[in-house]
Amino acid sequence: MFKSQTCGELRSTDETKVVMLAGWVHRRRDHGGVIFIDLRDRFGITQVVIRSGTPDAALDLFKTAETLRSEFVVQIEGVVELRTENNRNPLMTTGDIEVVATKIVILNPAKTTPFLITSDGRDVDENLRLRYRYLDLRRERMQKNLTMRHRFVKFIRDYLDVRGFLEIETPILFKTTPEGARDYLVPSRVYPGTFYALPQSPQQLKQLLQVAGIERYFQIARCFRDEDQRADRQPEFTQLDMELSFVDREDILQLIEGLLTEFVEKHTTKKLIAKPFPRFTYAEAQDKYGIDKPDIRFGLEMFNITAVTRGSQFLPFANAATVKGFVVPGCAGYSRKQVDDLGEMAKKKGAKGLVSLMHDDTGIRNQGAGAKLSDAEKTAILAAANSKPGDLLLFIGDSPKVVNEALSELRLELGHRLKLADENVLAFCWVIDFPLFEYNEEEKRWDPSHHMFTAPKDEYIPTLESNPGAVLSKQYDLACNGYEVGGGSIRIHRRDIQEIIMRLIGLEMEDARKKFGHLLEAFEYGAPPHGGIAPGIDRLTMLLCDEANIREVIAFPKNQQASDVMAGAPSPVYDLQLKELHIKITE
Ligand code: ASP
Repeated sequence: MFKSQTCGELRSTDETKVVMLAGWVHRRRDHGGVIFIDLRDRFGITQVVIRSGTPDAALDLFKTAETLRSEFVVQIEGVVELRTENNRNPLMTTGDIEVVATKIVILNPAKTTPFLITSDGRDVDENLRLRYRYLDLRRERMQKNLTMRHRFVKFIRDYLDVRGFLEIETPILFKTTPEGARDYLVPSRVYPGTFYALPQSPQQLKQLLQVAGIERYFQIARCFRDEDQRADRQPEFTQLDMELSFVDREDILQLIEGLLTEFVEKHTTKKLIAKPFPRFTYAEAQDKYGIDKPDIRFGLEMFNITAVTRGSQFLPFANAATVKGFVVPGCAGYSRKQVDDLGEMAKKKGAKGLVSLMHDDTGIRNQGAGAKLSDAEKTAILAAANSKPGDLLLFIGDSPKVVNEALSELRLELGHRLKLADENVLAFCWVIDFPLFEYNEEEKRWDPSHHMFTAPKDEYIPTLESNPGAVLSKQYDLACNGYEVGGGSIRIHRRDIQEIIMRLIGLEMEDARKKFGHLLEAFEYGAPPHGGIAPGIDRLTMLLCDEANIREVIAFPKNQQASDVMAGAPSPVYDLQLKELHIKITE
């Protein structure tokens, strides 16, 4: 063994013990005749002291200590001593003691690192951090994040194990499993011209496991989706993938709520906004927050004044399909420029403009749009807004889609700016009763809102084909602090209904059978009613760790351009490899 203790272990009760520690030189401080080394390993930091003394041995020791630099790997033998009262450091778990070195072995020197390991890394260019990820991960912040991730996944495994779940691996080399993204393809050497697709999720396989009688399945599953990168997206990411038989929506929501609540309460210092988690129908979420993953840590809820302003003299209101707004408390004093900046944000989301009204002591101020509204309109608006003198009221009139997208963006921005969201709160909420389909204007067809295996609510089965736009589904999404952190549904388990959905989303039957024949066939051999969900491990860990980016909780993520800048991937391959794969590269 290189060490008798970790660097996070020694306490005052260990006084006089002879110990051996090993780790990295975190910091070295040279105080003339005394050198202090902060020795670091994953478990903590211990202060090591080397004093220049008269005996030759001590002199050698001191000389070695003088050569130590940051990130050298060293082994230290020494004696634990109590620090003097005024040298104690209550912020360090080992802050009561220090180890007086009697021997130092340099196990490996280190070049000067391209950035400091002692900082949290927020000051360093991200690509540089990713290029030297093995150094970046040495930071305390990153080690904490990886530890939290481990704790969370371990908790999940234990929680589900005692509830009768089996963890089952499903293939990575598979066939297209659509979740609305592009597939990553892997060419087959053995069958020229054919490809495996990496699963966008194990969706079909977990359903087939239900037909196989597994009843309670889970997997910490890697999913692959070729789509544009964002702070909360990676080409490969990890889900807690689950599927259960003989359950309804309530069973699944309660299972997940139980799991998350217990983890947050036992293993974090975060607060849950409410128990049970609040629920919104999709329609309510759109009405109040303009989005299906609301951040409910703060209000700023929207209200609709379309009916009130139908016949308005103010044409941007009168002519709009929908007019909605929200109150920004205490901001009636915003300058023209501040309001214009918000207007620019709204325009980026497709809005033609942003209308602002100031609520002052006399009501809505007679200025700008306020001068064009009738008294009756103003009274009705103030009643809908429930605002107070000193408040700013923001409105957008446009198509429902544009109104919701632009206003929800502004709501988030202002919630953030006014510091309305408590950073220590996890505001989980469920969104239910989604429409089964979304109309795809470009392709002129219906797309599944979730995925095509989601069941419609029973009462809509008779009108599936005659009125697809009105069909509500058995989908449920879990949101937290404005992120979608999981989605799932009760599935279709009958071949006839699955075939109707496939037809409605424009899959030719022949194509459907080629792609999904195995699933359709399985449904004819006694498929149990089943459903599932897939909470995102990366996003949840990100929120648990107070990070704003999932790359901070993934050991080796791709950068924002989907490349691994440390190893250099993707990268060209040898001609011979291409030949074996029957592939020719053309420009
Ligand atoms: N497969 C779905 C997804 O990846 C989750 C589910 O329906 O269980 O979003």
